[in-house]
Amino acid sequence: TEACLAAIEGAAALNAFVRVDPERALAAADAADARRAAGEDGPVLGLPIGIKDVYCTEGLGTQSASRILEDFVPPYESTVTMKLREAGAVALGKCNMDEFAMGSTTEHSVYGATVSPWRRAGDTAPLTAGGSSGGSAAAVAADLCLAALGSDTGGSIRQPAAFTGTVGIKPTYGRCSRWGMVAYASSLDQAGPMTKTVRDAAILLGAIAGHDPKDSTSAPREVPDFEAALKGDMRGRRIGLPKEYGADLPDEIAALWDRGAEMLRDAGAEVVEISLPNTPHALPAYYIIATAEASSNLARYDGVRYGRRASLGQGDGIVDLYEKSRAEGFGREVQRRVMIGAYVLSAGYYDAYYLRAQKIRSLVRADFEAAFGQVDAILTPVTPSAAFPLGEMEGDPVKMYLQDVFSVTLNLAGLPGISVPVGLSGEGLPLGLQLIGRPWGEAELLDTAFALE
Ligand code: GLN
Repeated sequence: TEACLAAIEGAAALNAFVRVDPERALAAADAADARRAAGEDGPVLGLPIGIKDVYCTEGLGTQSASRILEDFVPPYESTVTMKLREAGAVALGKCNMDEFAMGSTTEHSVYGATVSPWRRAGDTAPLTAGGSSGGSAAAVAADLCLAALGSDTGGSIRQPAAFTGTVGIKPTYGRCSRWGMVAYASSLDQAGPMTKTVRDAAILLGAIAGHDPKDSTSAPREVPDFEAALKGDMRGRRIGLPKEYGADLPDEIAALWDRGAEMLRDAGAEVVEISLPNTPHALPAYYIIATAEASSNLARYDGVRYGRRASLGQGDGIVDLYEKSRAEGFGREVQRRVMIGAYVLSAGYYDAYYLRAQKIRSLVRADFEAAFGQVDAILTPVTPSAAFPLGEMEGDPVKMYLQDVFSVTLNLAGLPGISVPVGLSGEGLPLGLQLIGRPWGEAELLDTAFALE
């Protein structure tokens, strides 16, 4: 814990942590030491970790990187961070992210962007660590903590993991409780760990998974011993490569994909081509469903119940209070998404956009169900490129949204997915591959990832 706190201080320029409470962390480390001295043991006892700012932490400010939650100190702890706390993990502080987890670079954070610890060979341009969980990814990659929590609505754990050479798993929807997590799109959001290795991901997922009566969408399912499942023997396992993911793929990513398939073949798997025909429709459907849910979830920030309240002028009424507080409190990207969401849900456009997107969601899910009749896991790229310089996507939201083309499909279907570092780009940057598993199949998924690592 002491070494991590010193490393965080030394790496302030990365802007990976946005709030650190050394006293609290050291007290938690002492408490873990005392438990160990009393004979207790456990895989996360005393483990120093970073927590994405999307999780409510009791007594420790939580802003979801938004001005509207300025000075918000939750009086309660999210279920997943509480589970880690009870198991003896040491929360070092809160990690940077895009405001309300909307974005792919952390450039939409009220704290400013996280900078990746990686650089292109022979180039000093600061690169993105990805988003929205970019602070967590950079913190793990730069050894500021041993693991971190992220959250994933459409790729926010897997894409930053791919950009920083770390491992990130988005579990099956319902595997982890969402209670105490600041909501973005409730039917897509999931908690998950970001770690250095697949084994660490298995351990951390085991620590945060499980049913929670406080979240009615969390599933009353046994949590298997994920770590014990890691064998790496792929004999008898069938891996599918969806041909639709190969369209317009840059050579470098296509070569990486081939290499991943080869590694799994070498471990004994049979690799076959499959089809997920509705893939091209998934991204637009995601951006309709996610913004629709966001516009509804973010209606609670009205300047009355939480966070920042605008000062009013003479004659201003309640509507002015809402308008001014929201205009001051939300950043541009969040405002854009609230407007898109309200539009696609509005009386005249609901059928044309929202309803149609929900139909596509069913088709995407059916595609996966059919594929899992033939294969045990699906291997795909995570991102269309390696990490890019900060500022490159500025002012081009659609270009930014296109980053998520490989990652949003499984959120629509509620499936688990993991990003594993597999190689380096020509410029020396990490590249990752994604494995998608059956619902509740995280143990097998982690095992397949173990073979790819
Ligand atoms: N980049 C995607 C978005 O902006 C995913 C974000 C996430 O998974 N939280 O919606």
